[in-house]
Amino acid sequence: MIDLQLRWHHQFQFAGYYAAAEKGFYREEGLEVRLNAGDPAHQPVQEVLSGRAHYAEGNSEVLYKRLQGKPLIALAAIFQHSPSILLVRKDSGIASVHDLAGKKVMLMNRTEDADLLTMFLNEGIALSQINIIPSSYRIDDLTSGKIDAFNAYSTNEPFYLKQRQIPYSIIAPGNYRVDFYSDILFTSEQELHNHPDRVEKVLRATLKGWRYAMDHPDETIDLLLKKYHVEKTRAHLEFEAAEVRKLIFPNLIEIGHMNPERWQHMADTFVKLGLVKSSAPLDGFIYSAEAKHLPAWVQPALTIAIAVLIAVLSATYYLLRLNRRLIRAEALLRATNTVLAAEIDDRKAIETSLRESEMRYRSLFENMLGGFAYCQMLYQNGQPEDFIFLEVNAAFDSLTGLRDVLGKRVSEVIPGIKASNPEWFAIYGGVVEAGAPEKFETFVKPLNTWFSIAAYSAGSQCFVAVLENITEHKQIQRSYEQMAQIDHLTGLANRRHFTQQAEAELARTLRYGVPLSLLMLDLDNFKQINDTHGHPTGDRVLQTFSDLCLSCLRQVDLIGRIGGEEFAILLPETAIMEAVDVAERLRRMIAEAPVHLEHDQEALRFTVSIGVTGVATVSASNIHIDALLQKADQALYQAKAEGRNRVFAEVSAWQNRMLC
Ligand code: GH3
Ligand code: MG
Ligand code: MG
Repeated sequence: MIDLQLRWHHQFQFAGYYAAAEKGFYREEGLEVRLNAGDPAHQPVQEVLSGRAHYAEGNSEVLYKRLQGKPLIALAAIFQHSPSILLVRKDSGIASVHDLAGKKVMLMNRTEDADLLTMFLNEGIALSQINIIPSSYRIDDLTSGKIDAFNAYSTNEPFYLKQRQIPYSIIAPGNYRVDFYSDILFTSEQELHNHPDRVEKVLRATLKGWRYAMDHPDETIDLLLKKYHVEKTRAHLEFEAAEVRKLIFPNLIEIGHMNPERWQHMADTFVKLGLVKSSAPLDGFIYSAEAKHLPAWVQPALTIAIAVLIAVLSATYYLLRLNRRLIRAEALLRATNTVLAAEIDDRKAIETSLRESEMRYRSLFENMLGGFAYCQMLYQNGQPEDFIFLEVNAAFDSLTGLRDVLGKRVSEVIPGIKASNPEWFAIYGGVVEAGAPEKFETFVKPLNTWFSIAAYSAGSQCFVAVLENITEHKQIQRSYEQMAQIDHLTGLANRRHFTQQAEAELARTLRYGVPLSLLMLDLDNFKQINDTHGHPTGDRVLQTFSDLCLSCLRQVDLIGRIGGEEFAILLPETAIMEAVDVAERLRRMIAEAPVHLEHDQEALRFTVSIGVTGVATVSASNIHIDALLQKADQALYQAKAEGRNRVFAEVSAWQNRMLC
């Protein structure tokens, strides 16, 4: 069990000790502490020196006894300033320490009220000038007028006067350059020597208790009222708590802090007061100072060094951050540059490729065999009606034979184009509008040229025409077609062509209900002609026959060489009897026509047999040309059979009736 002697009765002045005991801070350190209230018979210094208490809380008398050689150790200065004051009644007219000369001033003893005595000394007031009366500790002596000034605690007695509404003034040593520590936790050298750990523990737990009490004043007041049976009212304790707080400065100063210089100053004051001879034995008195024992110049030097260090560290930190930011920014910049460089490379590559591509296309454009024209469509009333040449290649000029077309309208470049090729404007207009390409063949009459044209949309109102001159191709095609249709010996339609034409004519006949007749002709004994006069002569006979036929036929009649020396003639809108007449006329003409041979030879004569058939209006139904040819062939066969050089008509029963 450890005894801790308090300086006076239980009150808020010792709040930290109660908190440490009640909140278990001493117990946490493995200590059991008993808090003993003080009274005139139990004074802290005496209790510690006698060994009845291990620790105690005392006033400046702790230092005084130490200076007198008592083995006391100050562990913590709980109050940074002394609560000792002098209270005077306001109606006394006393306003300052100087007004106290000759007045009755209650004081304790020299050592306990050292700070008050110092105040007089500092102000040049000799103690002999004052009527010092030993303290009765009874405030009533002040209110009754028995004395003029009462030694009080700022934390305590003013409350009574306030309560009784007695106006008062305070004369505080702090206002006269006296600033003493107060309420000091202390112990004996013996305790420190024997139980250094315990000293540390008591100190740690006490300071923790004080911090708790400062943070929870109401709880501490509750505790004082309930457990410690304090005689003061709650209001009084609250006043005390507020005043104590002003002396501890818990928010500004670490509780218990001791400055050796202030201790030294206090010691010097005692010397000045003549209380002690010398302040030398102060070494070892201050607990924390003893542990560190640093020379006086160290602290300011250390402060400056720390300030410099902080400045250097701050600058270094700032520079580091700046540097890091710069490195990051540089990295970002580098990365951006890389990306940009890559982009530039890409662009260069694209540009090169575009240039190459453009050159390729330009070269293609210039050298292509096809004509190229880039044109802009012109509109009138929303309808395409002309276009302008914006660009053409060399092939265009050579293919069309046109010159200097750029910027000119097509109607200007090719006069008559609108009449000859009105479809162009619709086609190009459609390409521009729909965007879909068109390919077509067109004959440009003003240029007498066939073109194959591919047209493409080329942006707003523009199109590109790639053209090819196909005139020659068309001519060859036509000649091929002709060759396929025409018998080269006689120039007449061949069998296929004749059949096609006859078929179309037959269809027309059937549609419009007009008659039509068909003649089938075969040269008589032609083989013999060949045999007798030779094949070329036979050819000449065939040509003569062809010419003779053409000479007596109408424009609308069709004639074709069906086989070697067989021919067919279609007579549109000709009834069979008329056809028979035509056939007869033809037969006679041929029989009479001489074919002149070589000079010395006699003219050759030849004959033809003709079969006739026909289609009458009313009989028309599903007659096919092949069937009609077959009928005519049968009639021809009949003509041959009857002796050749004659006409035979295949007349149907109905037609026969008509003939009759
Ligand atoms: P028919 O009176 O019965 O018709 O007797 P034909 O001799 O005319 O008939 P045939 O069918 O026996 O002979 C036809 C001849 O026509 C045989 C063939 O050599 C001849 N011929 C066919 N085409 C040509 C040709 O293009 N030129 C010549 N010179 N002769 C041809
Ligand atoms: Mg024949
Ligand atoms: Mg014949």
